[in-house]
Amino acid sequence: MMIIVKEADNKQPRTSDRRLLLGLQQSPVVMYTLVSRHPVDHRSVSAPALTDKSAPPLAIGMFPVHGISPLSTRYSINLMIAFRCHHAKITRITVRKPHGYDFLIGYPMNSIDKIRIGISSCLLGNPVRFDGGHKRDRYITDTLGAYFEFVPVCPEIECGLPVPRESMRLVGSPESPRLIASKSGTDHTVRMLDWANRRVEELAGEDLCGFIFKSKSPSSGMERVKVYDRNNVPSNNGVGLFARVFMDRFPLLPVEEEGRLHDMILREHFIESVFVYRRWRRVVEDFTPHKLVSFHTGHKLLLRAHSETHYRALGRIAAQAGTLEPETLWGSYQEQLMACMRLKSTVKKHVNVLMHMVGYFKKYLSSDEKKELLEVIDRFKNYHVPLIVPVTLFNHYIRKYDEAYLRGQYYLNPHPIELKLRNHA
Ligand code: SF4
Repeated sequence: MMIIVKEADNKQPRTSDRRLLLGLQQSPVVMYTLVSRHPVDHRSVSAPALTDKSAPPLAIGMFPVHGISPLSTRYSINLMIAFRCHHAKITRITVRKPHGYDFLIGYPMNSIDKIRIGISSCLLGNPVRFDGGHKRDRYITDTLGAYFEFVPVCPEIECGLPVPRESMRLVGSPESPRLIASKSGTDHTVRMLDWANRRVEELAGEDLCGFIFKSKSPSSGMERVKVYDRNNVPSNNGVGLFARVFMDRFPLLPVEEEGRLHDMILREHFIESVFVYRRWRRVVEDFTPHKLVSFHTGHKLLLRAHSETHYRALGRIAAQAGTLEPETLWGSYQEQLMACMRLKSTVKKHVNVLMHMVGYFKKYLSSDEKKELLEVIDRFKNYHVPLIVPVTLFNHYIRKYDEAYLRGQYYLNPHPIELKLRNHA
């Protein structure tokens, strides 16, 4: 196996620091290669029993893998590599298999700034499907990839199954189905669940702010996966085995399927939830009651666009910032926050928020400006213009009249404008 580190064309001196966790089938000896035209500082490369043969600019290391159980002639390993390259801007990391394809395992560039999202590996274009194919989703890789750092997971490969392999399906009751190979009838349930329960504990340390699942998969599907009964009749109400273990372990994490991300409303909802969760995680990392109050203040309008009831409940929790124990405080706030974010915004809820915002300009707007603002809100209410139109006008007035409270509201800029969200009527 070779790990290829690719550099960007416009190289600037910088440090990239990245840990990779791979679950791959391998022979007992793994060879990795860091390819760089600049020296790679191998002191930070670490792996079991690593023997380093670095020779810049092409650095090669080889190490035996210990402590693994043979699965017939195959091995399943977890490999952790941290590397630091001081002189190259690194754009992507791939594993090169002996027969030549590059298997994408991460985007290390700006990994400190990007939001870490778990994802079904085949959606990144990795050829891990049962037939050796993939399901690359260009919106995910090309658009979301600019803001998200993906942590790929392929349950079927990582639990030790080969490529190609028999296709599988869920059989039995939708609540606790078995994962069965379609032709041979081999039952992979125990193998998959054992692996999944271990893997979610590893993922708990990955600082994930969401997960994008491959739809309809008996391993990765988040909902509406086919489950066959004893008469071979399918019902569409199953959940993939890994997806179920993951969602049970991380009930608050925003999750979505790639197909649903092509629906603009669902896409917006998922991405907004991911950004809110990420901002909240930064509060929790270095928690103080003051930070919670400041987070709540900046998200008031955004929360109201999801649920007035939850917004008020969150306000009551934030008001106890000085009295509750910190863990009780952030624990109950977090639960309400993500419950609030699970409820979708609607045009009606947005109109309520927009009308509330108009009140902040009572003293400033001329009658003509006010009339124009109300007309734009009305056009949005009647589905003639997208939300981005009134929001842009509000941002204009906020800048013009220097309205401090609204300027601090994430509702007006919940995610990067380049994602082109809120742009549908
Ligand atoms: S759907 Fe899941 S298990 Fe199937 S190939 Fe994709 S990542 Fe692997």
